[in-house]
Amino acid sequence: MISATTFKTPNHILYGAGSVERLAEILEWFKCRKPVVISDPGVVQAGITARVLDVVKKYGVDAEVYTDIESDPDIRTADRCGQAVKKAGCDFIVAVGGGSALDIAKAASILAANGGKAEDYLGIERVPGRGLPKAMIPTTAGTGSEVTNVCVLSLAEHRTKKGIVSRHLLADAAIIDPGLMVSLPPRITASTGMDALTHAIEAYLSRFSTPWTDLYAIEAVSLIGRYLRKAVVDGGNLDAREKMAMASCYAGLAFGNAATGMVHGIAMSLGGQFHIPHGVANAVMLPFVMEWNSVSRLEKYSHIAAAMGEPIREMSPKRAAERAVQAVRELSVDIGIPQHLRELGIKREDLETLAKDAMTNSRQIAPNPRDVTFDEVMGILQRAF
Ligand code: NAD
Repeated sequence: MISATTFKTPNHILYGAGSVERLAEILEWFKCRKPVVISDPGVVQAGITARVLDVVKKYGVDAEVYTDIESDPDIRTADRCGQAVKKAGCDFIVAVGGGSALDIAKAASILAANGGKAEDYLGIERVPGRGLPKAMIPTTAGTGSEVTNVCVLSLAEHRTKKGIVSRHLLADAAIIDPGLMVSLPPRITASTGMDALTHAIEAYLSRFSTPWTDLYAIEAVSLIGRYLRKAVVDGGNLDAREKMAMASCYAGLAFGNAATGMVHGIAMSLGGQFHIPHGVANAVMLPFVMEWNSVSRLEKYSHIAAAMGEPIREMSPKRAAERAVQAVRELSVDIGIPQHLRELGIKREDLETLAKDAMTNSRQIAPNPRDVTFDEVMGILQRAF
């Protein structure tokens, strides 16, 4: 028997090379008069922000532009952006970029409409009312932020990362144009692709998974297993970019509803304390947390192995589960991801603080398929060191 479930999605998902042009339709639906385009310096430099501004201009209005956003952005960046959007009197938000720009735009949309500070809304469903309408245009195939109800912010003072989770963060339209991703350098393609794989695998194994989230999660695993290597080594391969953009969106739909687990629980601490980029932190931790979690979901691990193309037909569930972890590790090695925490500059004496902070991430502890204790997290970190 399946208990009652909800599957949350943005109102519209537009997908395909060239779909950025359809932003004009969305602006028309909302009778937008004063949009703000929110982006970051790397995306501006890649010429993508200018392309979006051209579409807005063709629609017939001038846009405000806000690009003062760093990677893995701080909570104060969200406050500053929210204030700027409110002061300019904008009536629509167009976000273009990776998860960093998209998350700041999502936060700005609720801050401009509800007032207050981002800190007031950290946690689950604490935002009182709707945000400004928003279109999300991802330029990395990783976070799936364009379809999730989450916004992740760094809290520099507390050396941690936390999230705002709210139905008011869901986009009115996600516009997924793989053509905007061909400029992504191999290193970022690799780490963001592993981020998407982590979303898919953690959602599939989550205690909160449902038949709906399983459908998207396992298809995302299969697409990433087949296309991430190609996207990394041949960035202009539009077919690989299309499949990775789709996989990232599918993984976002899966984890946006089923949540993540202790790969994220530890990665959030690695990001908050050591500024390790989110995708890299997830990629390093994924095989180690998978190994530890495997006893809890042997059958689902064999599905992951099969989706990654492993020949598991004659294997016992335990052996197939090992092959799932091995397939993930081989992919990660092939695309040049560091394999151990020490390669990221972490010291052995940092592990205890990391474990303590990870144990505060209740949003990731609850859905993790295996019960989480401080000692178990220390064990995982020591093996990953
Ligand atoms: P990012 O947004 O920080 O981008 C990484 C770098 O790539 C930046 O310098 C950016 O300018 C550049 N870049 C982006 N697209 C480019 C392109 N097409 N061409 C050239 N350069 C490009 O990286 P990210 O991994 O997409 O996002 C990470 C953030 O998202 C973290 O803060 C993470 O915690 C958060 N996140 C959010 C969610 C969610 O659901 N809201 C989920 C996972 C992660």
